[in-house]
Amino acid sequence: RSGRSAALRARMEERLLGARFRYLNQQLYTGSSRDAARLFRADPAAFHLYHRGFERQVQRWPERPVQRIVRYLRRRPASLVVADFGCGDCTLAASVKNQVHCFDLVPLSPRVTVCDMAKVPLAAESVDVAVFCLALMGTNLQEILGEANRVLKLGGTLMVAEVASRFEDTRAFLKAMTQLGFRTVSKDLSSSYFYLLEFAKTGPARPGAAPGLRLRPCLYKRR
Ligand code: SAH
Repeated sequence: RSGRSAALRARMEERLLGARFRYLNQQLYTGSSRDAARLFRADPAAFHLYHRGFERQVQRWPERPVQRIVRYLRRRPASLVVADFGCGDCTLAASVKNQVHCFDLVPLSPRVTVCDMAKVPLAAESVDVAVFCLALMGTNLQEILGEANRVLKLGGTLMVAEVASRFEDTRAFLKAMTQLGFRTVSKDLSSSYFYLLEFAKTGPARPGAAPGLRLRPCLYKRR
């Protein structure tokens, strides 16, 4: 009897966690990166809850996108300096020999520099590779990618892994990226879960709106 009520309670707790995760996730995708920073600063427990939910989601996928980025970096010189925007638990930094600057809103690991990814504490043109692995969450995409452009050296690499269903119009997105100073080097759209896009910095971002730069929020269904 007490076994049954414990099981029931565990199930209720799971449901509550799931509901809070979906709510937090929705807030992250429908507000600016600054709103996200404010949210987690005010409630660090929410951040840990969010991450537990995130882990559970990606475990359902056949492959973790961050592993693709790890493989990519291992094929390139270890001397390249990397910036990981929205690094989460720093799996990337822990898996490669490169120097990796890790940025996130709350530290899941001591490697993390806590900041809003729209404004990272790096000098202009100081990194060779900028990474956004499932991390393009805020609505101020242009500002966030502009920050990546600022810190990247000319010719440097921008890697983006994003949930496939977020792309409304991939061609318009890639076109907008040219306006932000990025040329498409390769795109792997073969996974039904996520796209892997590689860009090279061609120059500074050109001013003005980039209307094609839109991604749908990634909202999870209740299971
Ligand atoms: N790149 C990691 C984590 C992806 S989850 C991986 O692939 O495993 C997305 C991460 O982006 C979360 O850790 C979240 O806290 C972070 N994030 C979201 N908005 C951010 C912001 N404005 N500034 C910095 N990090 C942010």
